[in-house]
Amino acid sequence: MATPMTAEWRIDLFSDTKTRPCAAMRRAMAEADCGDEQQDEDPTVALLNARVAALLGKPAALFLPSGTMANLISVLVHCKRGDEIIADRSSHLVNLETGGAAGVGGASIFPIDGEGGIFDIDQFEAAIRSPRRNAPRPRLAWVEQTTNLGGGLVWPLATLETLSSRCERHGLAVHIDGARLLNAAVADGVAPATYGALADSLWIDFTKGLGSPFGAVLAGSETFIEDARRYKHMLGGAMRQAGIMAAACHVSLDLGTAPLAQDHKNARRLADSLRAIPGIAIHHRVETNILVVDVAATGLDADAIQSGLRRAGARGGVFGPATMRLITHRDVSETDVDDFAALFGEIVRGGERKSA
Ligand SMILES: *Cc1c(COP(=O)(O)O)cnc(C)c1O
Repeated sequence: MATPMTAEWRIDLFSDTKTRPCAAMRRAMAEADCGDEQQDEDPTVALLNARVAALLGKPAALFLPSGTMANLISVLVHCKRGDEIIADRSSHLVNLETGGAAGVGGASIFPIDGEGGIFDIDQFEAAIRSPRRNAPRPRLAWVEQTTNLGGGLVWPLATLETLSSRCERHGLAVHIDGARLLNAAVADGVAPATYGALADSLWIDFTKGLGSPFGAVLAGSETFIEDARRYKHMLGGAMRQAGIMAAACHVSLDLGTAPLAQDHKNARRLADSLRAIPGIAIHHRVETNILVVDVAATGLDADAIQSGLRRAGARGGVFGPATMRLITHRDVSETDVDDFAALFGEIVRGGERKSA
């Protein structure tokens, strides 16, 4: 059977970026009030910026085409050439942003080997170099909330509070890559503005669990956002009638956090079903919508399982030779999760029969 086209995946757990814009979004986009965004004349974008600034408890915010640009702009604002960013080795910044911090921003990264993408305060303190004329200057602490490659874990509020106060003492800024910040807020019952109070800059992505087709909003102080706006223009991110885009993001916010809570519930349900399959282990706790699944003890590698899934119109993500990442999102129902787990079980048991 031919591999289905992307649009035909029956159950797509590759990423929460795989959602399609819902009917309400398409309608809102078609009817959006628009202006020239580059000139600050788009009312729908202005309103979105105001909503996200309020949500994150920051004075100002800036609509951007993507989260990658939000991270890069933040590096550009916070860091001079040769400055150092302290980040977990598994972070999206280190692995999945084409080296933009160094390539465009001129900053180097001191990677910490945390646990599930989260480093502790002792590791952080040890990473801060004492001032020396010939050493890189530590400038920015980088937090990914929730951790992506780390497995969807939530940075505990207490750790963030300590990190934030240590940074103040050492003269470092704090940036939160909040691609899934609202997942963390929902999982831990923390108001997003509480995270905002602990960071100099942070952003949320509308294309992950929030289900929009594009958009991220970066928030910070008035002066931070003023600088960010200049870099956005420099990078070619200033847009024209971007209210068409922002309208979809408004629908995401209007839908609230209930869909994220459902995604988390589905992820736990999936984890429970998969654990019942002989040879399957789940890395870490399942705190949000991401599962890292270890298939080593099944006798099949991740590619073989992925092939089996694909034949049935389903997929996860292959993470390593014996590891898969599965992400729930709003286009995945409870029934989909049950079907996926059943399929996974059949593939593993089929593999066992072959090797017996
Ligand atoms: C997806 C993601 C990004 C990048 O966001 P895009 O909108 O895809 O550019 C950055 N950080 C994390 C943790 C992500 O998951």
